[in-house]
Amino acid sequence: MSSARVPATLIPGDGIGTEIMDVTVRVLEALEAPFEWDVQKAGRAGLQECGDPLPPATLDSIRRTGLALKGPLETPVGGGYRSSNVRLREEFHLYANVRPAMTLVPGGRYENIDLVTIRENTEGLYVGFEHYIPIDGDPHAVAIGSGVNTRAGCRRIAEFAFNYAVTHGRRKVTIVHKANILKALTGVFLETAREVGKAYEGRVKSEDRIVDACAMQLVLNPWQFDVIVTTNLFGDILSDEIAGLVGGLGMTPGANIGENAAIFEAVHGSAPDIAGKGIANPLALILASAMMLAHVGRQDLAGRLRQAIDRTLNQDSIRTRDLGGTATTREFGDALIRHIL
Ligand code: NAD
Repeated sequence: MSSARVPATLIPGDGIGTEIMDVTVRVLEALEAPFEWDVQKAGRAGLQECGDPLPPATLDSIRRTGLALKGPLETPVGGGYRSSNVRLREEFHLYANVRPAMTLVPGGRYENIDLVTIRENTEGLYVGFEHYIPIDGDPHAVAIGSGVNTRAGCRRIAEFAFNYAVTHGRRKVTIVHKANILKALTGVFLETAREVGKAYEGRVKSEDRIVDACAMQLVLNPWQFDVIVTTNLFGDILSDEIAGLVGGLGMTPGANIGENAAIFEAVHGSAPDIAGKGIANPLALILASAMMLAHVGRQDLAGRLRQAIDRTLNQDSIRTRDLGGTATTREFGDALIRHIL
């Protein structure tokens, strides 16, 4: 186990970002995590302070470190600047978005959930090939959007998912698609992922589902799923649904993995409705930092962190409001740190 220092970029983010990042950094300090932070801006904070939602200094920093912990970044709905999250994924070819969801607090609507969504992160309907056709003075009379899925991109994400299943002791990968309607766009994904699945026969089971049926089955019987691999938009939607099975968006971390960089974050956004109130659940970002520790080979620290989280939630019953508790963001962090020290 190496105790070497690891340079990493830190982007506090927008809305609740600064509140949950503050706690996460204190938790990592208590753990004596190896990260040497280079603090940078992006999103609304980038625009306000550097005139750019993805400032060149932030990109340079990630190019140098190849590793980042990122708070949520705000994206205007409808018009305005393009998502800095999507741009980061494109810039660093972060093709795999890994979103584990696990029951950490027993007694909720569902028990013993342990699911991983692997979402293709750079293709599909997220490529932003969109335009309007004006008719009769209505500039938005017709809206057109195209998606792009490539054979190579589908193979890369399917191989990542099956390989993830093997290396993480998982039994099954479910390929989720809409190839009955989007016959080309998600047809190529299904076709390619099935082919990749065949190469893993005997090691990991492979099956496929249409996305709408999968969404319903996730509510009725989520335990039938293990690893889900899917295209960009479906992965985005299903992983929020899955977060709902384990107590909500405050509980699910995500990793964006590429060949030359990895960016860790919470699945949730900047939560403008509770920003500044000090009540956000910092766990999703803290769990993302545990994934980041494991990524740099510090499974020892990741394990200690997960154990401290379990004790805080279940021995002390200290929980934020989204989990039915009364703790503030800071109080939760302080309690967690007491279990680490
Ligand atoms: P959101 O995830 O910010 O919030 C959805 C709901 O979940 C809100 O009611 C919010 O209060 C709650 N919630 C989210 N995180 C929570 C936490 N840690 N603790 C307690 N409650 C929490 O989604 P939204 O409101 O649709 O999006 C807000 C902004 O975030 C948008 O600008 C969007 O583009 C952006 N966004 C960013 C990311 C990212 O940076 N990866 C992801 C999703 C959304």
